[in-house]
Amino acid sequence: MLVLGIESTAHTFAAAVLNESGVILSDVRNSYRAPSGSGIHPREASRHHADVAPHVIKEAIEKSGISIKDIDAIAYSAGPGLGPCLRVGAIVARTLASYYSKPLTPVNHAVGHIELASLLTSSKDPICILVSGGHTAIVAFSQGRWRFFGETLDITIGQLFDQFGRYVGLSSPCGPVIEELASKGTKYIQVPYTVKGNDMSFSGTLTHSKRLLKSYTLEDVAFSLQETAFAMLCETAERALAFTEKDELLVAGGVAANKRLAEMLEAVCKRQGARLYIPPIKYSGDCGPQIAWTGIRQIQAGITIRPEDAFVRQSWRLDQVITPWRY
Ligand code: AMP
Ligand code: MG
Repeated sequence: MLVLGIESTAHTFAAAVLNESGVILSDVRNSYRAPSGSGIHPREASRHHADVAPHVIKEAIEKSGISIKDIDAIAYSAGPGLGPCLRVGAIVARTLASYYSKPLTPVNHAVGHIELASLLTSSKDPICILVSGGHTAIVAFSQGRWRFFGETLDITIGQLFDQFGRYVGLSSPCGPVIEELASKGTKYIQVPYTVKGNDMSFSGTLTHSKRLLKSYTLEDVAFSLQETAFAMLCETAERALAFTEKDELLVAGGVAANKRLAEMLEAVCKRQGARLYIPPIKYSGDCGPQIAWTGIRQIQAGITIRPEDAFVRQSWRLDQVITPWRY
């Protein structure tokens, strides 16, 4: 089975072709870059997506070495995400599906991150930390769907890095630059550390860190912000591991690229007798393979829709998605 996956939830318009063994035959991406100091403007990003969509799809098909007629089904990212961006992907997907008479399947973007991370690491039954621009969640699979064992109560950890970065004039996504700056910091300054129950809050950490810039170097503030945010994640992930007694910890989403996070989670796993699984950096952020691979599993489970029903959902919680291909 060959599936074309289309991703367009936020900054990236991407397409990929995968087969049912999980082999990535092609993976083409084109990302909208916001001006320095600004976030993703949904209308501007959707214009970008509409401009690049035909080229990205064409290149993904060409690079996979097949013809579009050989594709067995089309999968698209149906949410959660920015409405205007999601709609571009949905329209492209439903147009291709109806023109070429292919089955169509709508994928939850968060499920896509987890399924691709599982494929690439061979993790089976993990506690998953989903950390990205749109999510900060600690989840485990039980009885047909992913269940939350902790999540952010306000902004996501990706937004913490992106909003702090934009405040100092960087361009989103800022995580990699914050990681670089943090690695040069030497002094830890206390910033708010907020875990309530097993949920996290990052907005106070953000506000306080911005204020600290008046008195401390950017490197030291970036270091303190990153250490504190990751410590909150480690505490909540460790509690979830201890509570569920699972022995796998999987990290998915763009923030999974951070080396310091991996180092801190490695210590958690050591204490809890668990193994840490992190996908290759290239596949931690938004990409076509996450949608194509989840699409394959959905098609195998018989989940298809008619092209005229290819809607999008800006809000679509992970625990609302029935995932019958897992146990
Ligand atoms: P996604 O939404 O999955 O594409 O992930 C994008 C988010 O990951 C953005 O908020 C980025 O700032 C963040 N990110 C990417 N690379 C890193 C990194 N090395 N360290 C921390 N955050 C990162
Ligand atoms: Mg994402």
